[in-house]
Amino acid sequence: MELPRLQKIHYSRSACNSPVINTLYKTPMEFSPALLPETHALPDAPAPAKADGRKPMIGLSREELLAEVLALGESKFRASQLWHWIYHRGAKTFDEMTPLAKKLRERLDGMYTLARPLADKDLTSFDGTRKWLLQFADGNKAESVFIPEEDRGALCVSSQVGCTLTCKFCHTGTQKLVRNLTAEEIVSQFMLARDALGEWPSSKEPRLLTNIVMMGMGEPLYNYENVAKALKIIMDGEGISLSRRKITLSTSGVVPMIRQCGEELAVNLAISLHAVTDELRDVIVPLNKKYPIAELLQACRDYPTASNSRRITFEYVMLKGVNDSLADARALVKLIKGIPAKINLIPFNAWPGAPYECSSWEQIEAFAQVVLAAGYASPVRTPRGRDIYAACGQLKSDSEKVRKSVLLKQQKESAASV
Ligand code: SF4
Repeated sequence: MELPRLQKIHYSRSACNSPVINTLYKTPMEFSPALLPETHALPDAPAPAKADGRKPMIGLSREELLAEVLALGESKFRASQLWHWIYHRGAKTFDEMTPLAKKLRERLDGMYTLARPLADKDLTSFDGTRKWLLQFADGNKAESVFIPEEDRGALCVSSQVGCTLTCKFCHTGTQKLVRNLTAEEIVSQFMLARDALGEWPSSKEPRLLTNIVMMGMGEPLYNYENVAKALKIIMDGEGISLSRRKITLSTSGVVPMIRQCGEELAVNLAISLHAVTDELRDVIVPLNKKYPIAELLQACRDYPTASNSRRITFEYVMLKGVNDSLADARALVKLIKGIPAKINLIPFNAWPGAPYECSSWEQIEAFAQVVLAAGYASPVRTPRGRDIYAACGQLKSDSEKVRKSVLLKQQKESAASV
């Protein structure tokens, strides 16, 4: 039987990934189960204060925004107006909000800000992929990557600065977790990309930024509260209004959070799988020691929105001589039997000091044919943005972990200097 030609996809990135800005590469941390948090509830660093002391309005939930408006003695309707101007029109200043009285605009401007993070670096690849190194109010940095297609495009969004996990194929995994990103910082990644692409208002058609993949730096399910809050803002029908079907959240397998994510957000799910035995996955994705493959796949079977029209994506990075045999391919299709799924095969994107090599193209094709013959779509992801270290698994910023006490001191000093 002649099998259909392999489909190549371009727009999405792998399970969590990460950019490389500095060249100070560290040895990947040795895995210890003790390093893994018990739940997603990692201690958050305090939200960074803006240098001028104003409060960010981006990232407030509808309820929080309403509470702020009422506290100012304004009517309820003002909260809807502000929401519309911020998320539908993309206003960067209160002064643009001309239906609001000048006095109110000035008052808001004195108390709040709509500022985006600083784009410390803005790099465009020869293939059109664009990467921003974003600097937040406390100086920490994370990256966002826009991967354009002809008539659509995905923004790969980060959820943490660094990562607690140490997936062996991933450059971010060599950067210790600095802190979780706040909802403001997650939504702002989208706002900044849309500013850069000139795609406001939200109703503008056609537009290039059509999808979001939570596959940047960090494990989104270890920063669930902020990620959920941010995605609810982005999905809100009176603002950015991006459909949940256009949003994919990728996890390395934080099993206890998967169901909640499906029930509360109902976004598409991607699993960073990469191996078919616990023995190997324990090495490549060390979180597997805590949540082994069988538990992870059961969580996928139970994922509320999984269906033939909304299949779960299994990310599988192709590592030469490690996980790329045809026996692995056969074991893979056996493992996921019964799950509405597609498998993204990702040619490994090397980074300096990486312990693996990419499988040969012939081997990737042969692997894909086995998967395809079993009835699963098996697109091979064309690497994007390799020249700017924006490809899958290559993201990394130079932010380093600062002790919480030092952070607090820095914030106090910065507030005092205002
Ligand atoms: S180390 Fe693992 S969880 Fe963390 S960013 Fe990389 S792939 Fe994602």
